[in-house]
Amino acid sequence: MTVLATGLSWVDLLFLGRPHAVATAVVRAPGTMALIDPGPTSCLNSLDLGLQQQGLRLSEVTHILLTHIHLDHAGATGTIVRRYPHVQVLVHERGAPHMADPEKLMASAARLYGDQMDRLWGEFAAVPVQNLTVLAGGERIDAGGRSFEVAYTPGHASHHVSYYDRSSGIAFVGDTAGVCIDGGYVLPPTPPPDIDVEAWTASAARIEAWSPQTLFLTHFGPVQGAVPHLRALVENLETTAGIVRTRLAEPGTDEEKSRRFAEDLQRELRRRMTDAQCAAYMVAAPPELLWPGLARYWRKKPG
Ligand SMILES: [Zn+2]
Repeated sequence: MTVLATGLSWVDLLFLGRPHAVATAVVRAPGTMALIDPGPTSCLNSLDLGLQQQGLRLSEVTHILLTHIHLDHAGATGTIVRRYPHVQVLVHERGAPHMADPEKLMASAARLYGDQMDRLWGEFAAVPVQNLTVLAGGERIDAGGRSFEVAYTPGHASHHVSYYDRSSGIAFVGDTAGVCIDGGYVLPPTPPPDIDVEAWTASAARIEAWSPQTLFLTHFGPVQGAVPHLRALVENLETTAGIVRTRLAEPGTDEEKSRRFAEDLQRELRRRMTDAQCAAYMVAAPPELLWPGLARYWRKKPG
């Protein structure tokens, strides 16, 4: 069930003990194994166990392909490299400096997550510069026995890339194609500080231009029907951005507006999904983190 194609599978990291919240993709061939977004260090044991259940070992990893450096995607990278110093890490040029020196990234995450940092994410160890392969987008890279096209796909994060394996028709899109758990609502995760609605819309079009058969989302897993999915993402991004814009123009404190936005969003999710699905979304993309990203986007926007 967790197999995508020959040598292509994924592991459910059971983030905070919940299934279907965070996934790592695994790409392998004899002598080479790549992880796409290894997840946070708090899930490293589940990753290790999940690999073992597929007859694989963490020590076999040769490449880590990062879509972006958010903690739920990239947190365990430095810890894995410390254990296995031969591992090469691929990351966009705007993310690379933070992998080598995560201090600023961690300070900015601490402003969002406060005293929950350790429980949620665990350690974020630096990656030595010699382990980093820096991407700009437009490259072709070989890892795990497959050849990937790399596209720069900002909007969710200014340093986000996506990877396309044309031979399987699978695009590994990180958070650029949003959160979609068990066929539910396609929710654009909009945490601060980089949200850019126009850039994100262009990135969705760039992914669509690959004509992938399958999108692989970190939150959560493979989705068939890339075109309707990407169109729903763009529509829902416009909807949530519109709600934030409306709420921002109303009187009241930022906290009150943020609360109203969370209520709006939860109403929208409940209208479309079961309670169990809604609960999974609250873990993968808590509304209190979605508001500040879009509020910042509107405040920065000229005019
Ligand atoms: Zn992210």
